[in-house]
Amino acid sequence: MTATVIDGKAFAAKVRGQVADHVARLKEAHGVTPGLAVVLVGEDPASQVYVRSKGKMTVEVGMKSVEHKLDADTSEADLLAVVKSLNEDPEIHGILVQLPLPGHLNEDLVINSIDPAKDVDGFHISNVGLLGTGQKSMVPCTPLGCLMMLRDHHGSLSGLNAVVIGRSNIVGKPMAQLLLGDSCTVTIAHSRTKDIQDVVRAADVVVAAVGRPEMVTGEWIKPGATVIDVGINRIDAPEKGEGKTRLVGDCHYDSCAEVAGAITPVPGGVGPMTIACLLANTVTACCRANGLAEPEGLTA
Ligand code: NDP
Repeated sequence: MTATVIDGKAFAAKVRGQVADHVARLKEAHGVTPGLAVVLVGEDPASQVYVRSKGKMTVEVGMKSVEHKLDADTSEADLLAVVKSLNEDPEIHGILVQLPLPGHLNEDLVINSIDPAKDVDGFHISNVGLLGTGQKSMVPCTPLGCLMMLRDHHGSLSGLNAVVIGRSNIVGKPMAQLLLGDSCTVTIAHSRTKDIQDVVRAADVVVAAVGRPEMVTGEWIKPGATVIDVGINRIDAPEKGEGKTRLVGDCHYDSCAEVAGAITPVPGGVGPMTIACLLANTVTACCRANGLAEPEGLTA
């Protein structure tokens, strides 16, 4: 079998198009422009790249983009003051504090200081609780993107066996909650899971969020299963020349694609969906803040 490739890049472009259409309608019919504020503390190069591309895409879909760049030695009090001012700003509907924060700052404290209604990353403890109890919440962007692709591919996920590999708060756990919400039978595997290959081989849907390059091989995959590869790992690529690198997922693409029914590539799978879902969450937050109808299909 050769798997169908789930094209996250194209899907993300479609989601951004839906967001842009909704933003245009909000402006025209209600005079409201959704606004997203991103707070970056320090100069982590990867974070700077993410923040730049988030800002660019926010503007491209017609939303207001605000960036707060703070020095690496910013005090917790100063950072909390920035978040407070954004919480109180009626033109800002989404707030994202780029993680990781420098070590002297308490991430939980900072994230939980964001107004939950503006917490477009879905990391605030209130949103975690709402999601866990099946109530309307802001849903973390990466798992939301995975869910959208799975729904699009399968239609209904009801009754499918899903295995999520990884139990982080930002991917694994919310992904499992979302799959449970769509009536999958969910198993969460992690570094202590016994006979993990057998566990994964029972799955109709595998979501790998581990951070270990090409750990999951075709032998782990049930024929016809859907494989969503969240991992982003940079490895040496001597075949491209000395000192060159390339990105790979947590799944060994070629061997998994031989067995799976469908698979997301890396790059070009889950990655592009994450920013698209951030924009979707911002437009959803804006609609909720203004008591307006939410766009269809852009949240869980
Ligand atoms: P974390 O490091 O927070 O969590 C990794 C999880 O994998 C842990 O639960 C860990 O288990 C588990 N794990 C580690 N080793 C093994 C193993 N040998 N077998 C089974 N499970 C194992 O990572 P994240 O969830 O933040 O990210 C996971 C990956 O997804 C990374 O590659 C990251 O770059 C990528 N990512 C991609 C995004 C995107 O937009 N596409 C967004 C976010 C992340 P334990 O808890 O037992 O230690």
